[in-house]
Amino acid sequence: MAIYLHDTLRGEKVLFEPYKEGEVTMYLCGPTVYNYAHIGNARPAVVFDLLARLLRRSYKLTYARNITDVDDKINQAAIDTGKSIDEITAEYILAYNDDMAALGVLPPDVEPRATEHIPEMVAMIGTLVDKGFAYEAEGHVLFDVSSDPDYGKLSKRDLREMIAGARIEVAPYKRSAQDFVLWKPSTPELPGWESPWGRGRPGWHIECSAMAEKHLGKTIDIHSGGQDLVFPHHENELAQSTCAHDGAPFARYWVHNGFLSIDSTKMSKSLGNVLLVHDMIGKLPGELIRLALLGAHYRQPLDWTDAALEGARSMLDRLYGAIRGIELSDAERAAADPPAAVIEALEDDLNSPKALAELFNHARALNKSTDNDERKKLAAEILAAGDLLGILQMDAETWFAGTSDNDLSADDIELLLMQREEARANRDFAAADAIRDKLGDAGIAIEDSPTGARWRRSG
Ligand code: AMP
Ligand code: ZN
Repeated sequence: MAIYLHDTLRGEKVLFEPYKEGEVTMYLCGPTVYNYAHIGNARPAVVFDLLARLLRRSYKLTYARNITDVDDKINQAAIDTGKSIDEITAEYILAYNDDMAALGVLPPDVEPRATEHIPEMVAMIGTLVDKGFAYEAEGHVLFDVSSDPDYGKLSKRDLREMIAGARIEVAPYKRSAQDFVLWKPSTPELPGWESPWGRGRPGWHIECSAMAEKHLGKTIDIHSGGQDLVFPHHENELAQSTCAHDGAPFARYWVHNGFLSIDSTKMSKSLGNVLLVHDMIGKLPGELIRLALLGAHYRQPLDWTDAALEGARSMLDRLYGAIRGIELSDAERAAADPPAAVIEALEDDLNSPKALAELFNHARALNKSTDNDERKKLAAEILAAGDLLGILQMDAETWFAGTSDNDLSADDIELLLMQREEARANRDFAAADAIRDKLGDAGIAIEDSPTGARWRRSG
């Protein structure tokens, strides 16, 4: 067991070694709960769920994925909808967890909410002020980036160039355009908490630094998130935590997923191409969406197209087709491990496309084999890989019965197949062929196998 991960800070793939032997801590920046998650937001949730599953094979993992439930976007949503902030956040926290569960994302060990960690944030901001890394100005507290010689290290930005290139209007209370908000004042209508700097609310970055420390400690093993978070969010988290903790390393490995586009186009509200997971799961099996998300390596861009979805559907057809009809006891299932090649691929910087290719090799071997014991062993290993990848969680018959909006039900198809068998037994090949054609027209492909005819929806 040796896991390799690409670390954004070092800029290369490195051997993963946890801080404490046998134990791993991982933090993922979770959703800001003011609307439904889109398919891009689902990518980190699914990718790091897979990493969590892999890590749990070898380590005692504590995985924290936070909920940002105080944010200006939430305040705006409350104004726009007339709902209370609590109503909005409660609704979208539930929806997020339901939607991610439909994609096979297991609940993290801790799901800290920002509003429940205000004292920890205030304490950390106080420490940063006391140590000279932050200053108060007009009810705001700002992080002074010039006080941190390492600022820019994660996103490989040079602070002097950033300052020289700054075109943004600098707020009058900031010493430098790059200084970022740790605390800001709230008006009476806005959510706010008492603090040494008056009634106010935290900035986004300090939320994660405070929650990560509270639940995972000063030095965490893996900090994860989407690539867009590297700057400024993670750069700022890194600065805050390291400076508050006298230089103690914040995250030993920074892991970031690439971006998802739709038909080669950036997803955006103005283009009207935002795909919400909430809508998709009513139309497509969650496993299919999950597999399409894992079809590309997590660091690569992923283009979401009909072809990618069809590809995922046919992969699941092939896998379910291979294990279909093989009866396994619970003990036989529990005893099986995923194929070693699948694990090796995942341990090599979470190479899910390679892991899937290895799984298909296994399915191919199963299809070829006529030895019953070997078939059972291969099927059990495929199912164990399914458990690790978060796919193949339904009965094969259920998969084949439900993946098409085709008119023929599974029962109809089984009946036609029986009639075809009878016709063949009576050497009435014209009738048998007619049934095959009828099924073919309805998008049902038939494969004759040593154990009888099998069908799958191919349309
Ligand atoms: P946000 O709610 O915008 O903070 O995003 C939540 C998570 O989704 C972050 O980890 C983002 O990096 C990630 N994310 C947002 N959009 C995309 C996208 N199009 N592709 C991949 N990840 C995304
Ligand atoms: Zn964060």
